[in-house]
Amino acid sequence: MDTNLPRVTYSNIGEDFSAVHAHLDALLPKVRETVLGRDRLNLIAGEEDGDGVRYTAASPINRDWALGHFIAASEVAVRRAVEAAQDAYPDWSRRPWLERVSLLRRAAERFEARKYDLSAACLFEVGKSRMEAVGEVEETIDLIRYYAAEMEKNEGYDRPMQRAFQQEATRCVLRPQGVFAVIAPFNFPVALSVAMTTGALLAGNTVVYKPSPMAGLTGRLLADCFVEAGLPAGALNLVCGGAEVGETLVAHPGVAGVAFTGSHAVGMGIFRRMAERPYAHPVIAEMGGKNPTYVTANADLDTASSGVMRSAFGLSGQKCSAGSTVLVHERVADEFLGALVDKTAKLTVGDPQRADVFVGPVINRAAAERFERVAASVRQQGRFAAGGEMLAGGLYDRGYYAAPSIATDLPPDHDLHKDELFLPFLTVRRFADLGSAIREGNDVPYGLTAGIYTQDEAELQLFLNTAEAGVLYANRASGATTGAWPGIQTFCGWKGSGVTGKGGLGPWYVPQFMREQSHTVMG
Ligand code: NAD
Repeated sequence: MDTNLPRVTYSNIGEDFSAVHAHLDALLPKVRETVLGRDRLNLIAGEEDGDGVRYTAASPINRDWALGHFIAASEVAVRRAVEAAQDAYPDWSRRPWLERVSLLRRAAERFEARKYDLSAACLFEVGKSRMEAVGEVEETIDLIRYYAAEMEKNEGYDRPMQRAFQQEATRCVLRPQGVFAVIAPFNFPVALSVAMTTGALLAGNTVVYKPSPMAGLTGRLLADCFVEAGLPAGALNLVCGGAEVGETLVAHPGVAGVAFTGSHAVGMGIFRRMAERPYAHPVIAEMGGKNPTYVTANADLDTASSGVMRSAFGLSGQKCSAGSTVLVHERVADEFLGALVDKTAKLTVGDPQRADVFVGPVINRAAAERFERVAASVRQQGRFAAGGEMLAGGLYDRGYYAAPSIATDLPPDHDLHKDELFLPFLTVRRFADLGSAIREGNDVPYGLTAGIYTQDEAELQLFLNTAEAGVLYANRASGATTGAWPGIQTFCGWKGSGVTGKGGLGPWYVPQFMREQSHTVMG
C-alpha cells in the first residue's frame, strides 16, 4: 500500500514529502480511533498474559487520550517469562544461523508492511513529529537488515583458524549466551527495542523484553511483528511495567545478559547489580549524553544555526544525541545567536499530528517540572535569548508543552552546561580558543555525540582528534549532533554514555551478544 511513498530518514530533509503527509492526513484519525485505548496484554511463551497490575498510559499530546491499558507484570509473570525464554533457548540457539537470519529478514518485511501504523502509534505515544515518527520506523527496518547482513558477511561468526598440525581442524566460533533481558527507553521505543532484540535473537539468544512504561503500545505492536514473522513461542516474551518489573527481571538468575538503553543512573545501577553475581555476565548499556556543538569563526553560520536548531529542539530535545550545549567563537557569537533565535522563533510547537509541527510535547509531568526548575535557575544566573516558559492555553493545557529555549550568559561552570536535561533547552557559551572550548565540552561525564561547524581544516582536525565522544559530525545542516543511521554512522557511547566501547548501528553490535569458543578437533 505504501510502496510508492518516499523513504523518510532523519537527514533527507529537503525532499518532497507531500505524498507522505497526504497518507498521514488520512491515517492518523483512523489509528487514533482503532489502535489507541485498547487492552494490550503481555506475551509469555507465545500466549497473551494478564498476570499483574493493570495500568493506563496516556498520550503526551493530550492526557485525555488513553494509549491503551497495559499489565505491569507480577513477579510470578516475570519469572514465567524468563522460564519460557530458557525453554525456547535450546531450539532457537541450535538452529542454523542462516535460518535465524531469514526469520529476522521476514520480521523486517512485517515492519515494512506495518510501517505507517507503527509510525502513527509512535507519534501518539511519544509525541514525535510526523517525520521523526516515520523516520524511526524506517530506521528500524534498515537496522534489522543491516544486522542480518553483518551475520552473513561474517558467515555467522564462525571461521577456520590456522593449524598447528596437519591432522587437526581448528575454528573460532561466536556462540550465544542464553536469555537476554532487553530494557528499553521511551524516546525511540520502536528502533531501540527492535535493535536490542534483533541483536540478541540473531546471535541465538532468547529474549524477555520490557519496554518503557510509557511505550507499551509500540512494545506490543512490535512484538506482534516478530510473532507474525514466525518467531517460535518463548523466543521473545513481552513484560510491561516500570522500574520494579525491570528490577525483578534483572535479578532473575536465569537472565544471562542484559541489553539496556536509558539513563546513566539506571544503566549503571543494572551494571553494578549484574557485577554482584558469582561471575561476570554481559551488560550492553547505552546511556545518556550531553552533546556539545562548536561553532568557530570560520563556520557557515546559516548551516550552523539550522543544524543546531534541529538537534536542540527535534523531538523536544528528548534524544540521547540532542545538541544541548553550544560553544561559539566570540567573533561570530552575536551573529550566530541572532540566526539561531530567528529560526527558533519560526518553529511551531503543538500537536504533532499536524504536518507543520516540528516540536511536540515533553513526555510527562516530571519533564515539565524539570523544565520549570531549569528555567528558574537561568532566570537567577543567566538570561533567555528565546523561550523560557511552559506554554499554556488550549491543547497546551492537555499535555506538557515547553517553548524551545536558549539560555545565555550562565557562568561557565554552571551545571546546566553539564547535566543531561532531556528538554527543548540549549545553553550557549562564547569561546576565544577552540582547543580550550573542546576541553570544556569534553568536561562532562558523558561522551555520546559532538558536532562542529568550521570551514578550516586545522580546526576540523583538532575537533576530530580531541573530542571525547563516539559519534562526531561536521558541518551538517540536518543536525549538529543527531541523525545517526544504521550502517552509516555507528553509535558508540564513550565514558558515561556506554559500557562496552562498541556501538549500535555498526559492525561490532551483534557480536556483543555472543561469547567466543575455540574448537580443535584432531582428525
Ligand atoms: P530510564 O533510564 O528512566 O528508563 C529506561 C528503562 O529502564 C525503562 O524501561 C524503565 O522502566 C527501566 N528501568 C527504570 N528503573 C529500572 C531499574 N531500577 N531496573 C531495571 N529497569 C529499570 O530512561 P528513559 O527516561 O526511558 O529514557 C531516556 C534516557 O535514555 C536518556 O538518558 C537518554 O539519553 C537515554 N538514551 C540513550 C540512548 C543511547 O543510544 N545511548 C538512546 C536513547 C535514549
